[in-house]
Amino acid sequence: MLIKARAAIPYSMSIIDLTTTKKPDLALRLKLLAKIGEHKPYNCFQCIRCTSGCPSMKMLELKPHEIVSLASLGFIEELIASGTVWACATCLKCKERCPQAVAPVDLIFALRNLAVEKEAKVPESFLRSLSAILETGFVQKPQDTVTRKMEKVNREKLDLPKFHEPDEKFKAAFFKVLELFQE
Ligand code: SF4
Ligand code: SF4
Repeated sequence: MLIKARAAIPYSMSIIDLTTTKKPDLALRLKLLAKIGEHKPYNCFQCIRCTSGCPSMKMLELKPHEIVSLASLGFIEELIASGTVWACATCLKCKERCPQAVAPVDLIFALRNLAVEKEAKVPESFLRSLSAILETGFVQKPQDTVTRKMEKVNREKLDLPKFHEPDEKFKAAFFKVLELFQE
């Protein structure tokens, strides 16, 4: 059974200047909550299990439990503008570890979707990954590499089979998924 917690107070307010604290955007908070199904951030009781298992923790300006806390309070614009949600490696560990079924990673996905809707700047690396999926079916295009003996090798040289470009059916399904995430 989930413990119902009150909106927690964030430990870090690094993206919110406390001298000019903005008001939370409750309408945007409701929109975000609608996107994440049952994994509601307001059930978080700040145990920090998510953050303690997060492999991207050091790269995140805000830690998973802090993202949850700020989202729960309604500081959505600030989270989107901070770019912190793009540093998550989407390993899903926070979702697995949360005793309250909060799923910080789902929240991060929803924040990314909102960021795209609001035409916030998407990191180049994400755009490159999307193009690579469309062109090759993989997140990263096959690359040449160098052995320990400094010999340059690639798939052709290693006699590996050629990649087949994704067909139109794959591309149509891919775009359909992208549309679903923007609903
Ligand atoms: S593990 Fe769950 S309950 Fe604990 S801080 Fe993270 S989101 Fe909150
Ligand atoms: S999904 Fe993201 S936020 Fe969650 S543990 Fe993995 S890297 Fe950290």
